[in-house]
Amino acid sequence: MKRIVAMICVILLLCGCTMHGAEKWPAPTVPAISVPSTELPLQTQPVARPSTAAPSTDAPALPTDAPPDATPPESTPPELETSLAVPAWTGEKPKICIDPGHYGGANQITGEQSCGYSEGDFTLRVALRLQEILMEKYGIEACLTRATGTISLHGYTNAELDGGHLELRPGVAAEQDCDFFFSIHTNANLPDANGYPQTLQPIGITKTVVLANLLCCEDPKWLAVANEVGMRVSAVNVEMGFAEDRPFQCGVPGQIPEWSDAWNDSLTLPGAVLCRHGSSGDYYGVLRGAASYGIPGVIVEHGFHTVAQMRSAAMNGDLAERWAEADADGIAAGLGIQPINGKESNEHD
Ligand SMILES: [Zn+2]
Repeated sequence: MKRIVAMICVILLLCGCTMHGAEKWPAPTVPAISVPSTELPLQTQPVARPSTAAPSTDAPALPTDAPPDATPPESTPPELETSLAVPAWTGEKPKICIDPGHYGGANQITGEQSCGYSEGDFTLRVALRLQEILMEKYGIEACLTRATGTISLHGYTNAELDGGHLELRPGVAAEQDCDFFFSIHTNANLPDANGYPQTLQPIGITKTVVLANLLCCEDPKWLAVANEVGMRVSAVNVEMGFAEDRPFQCGVPGQIPEWSDAWNDSLTLPGAVLCRHGSSGDYYGVLRGAASYGIPGVIVEHGFHTVAQMRSAAMNGDLAERWAEADADGIAAGLGIQPINGKESNEHD
């Protein structure tokens, strides 16, 4: 059943805070810029949202410091279908470079309820299906920075391309004349965030974080892709029971909030399109590298692999398929590209 439910994206007040990387592959020791909350105007923007089923009730009740209705919309936004908001794509379809984050076995979870999850393994599963869905459903060509557990570029392999030489990953996008760089990841929090063990975080921490490089933030077309992907992945996470149902905060050109640890690890703030500045442009090496080639790009932190319920959905459920479909549908929707066969998707509820 297909439903499009209109929703509102609310720019929240941000907490000023220090920056340090929860992600495992930041650029070398570059202090990021904190944006005081008082500099961000409260704004609303009506956007479309894909269908969502009722959130799972399987997850146990968890403590939360969420104030009740912290971000109520001022009024009910008008219903707006994305396909109406984005002009239909004309001309040659863009080519996407998909980057399955890290390498095989990277960020392996161990211990209680690990489910055998490894970020580097799972991002590859998502990426391979995303490539297939983009072509089969939308006729969008995509290449991969790696198609196996091993990534090897210009003489560097695996860990060498994770902690350094990061620009070589988006370099694939440049070499293959891609229009967009799409890096697939799952997120982590600081040790013992929120008073919980590192890898036993409550589902409230789950939020989809789409880190957009500065080129993407400035380009409404690709920013729309970031928004559409974020909304869809967030909806999947709620449907699969490892995220609370909070509106995804879409990015508005010129007003993209800065990433922070406080936001990343919060139990109450929503998923969002965020940017992260370094001393010379984008903080993250792959995003800075993409920008150096003139290519807009995003890192999509789909969910938190520090949440046991997410790991279970990944390893015991069909999360790879669901995220790949959400990514593909979001990319196409943001660009105004319709399915080849004219059918819509999201037949999951
Ligand atoms: Zn990652």
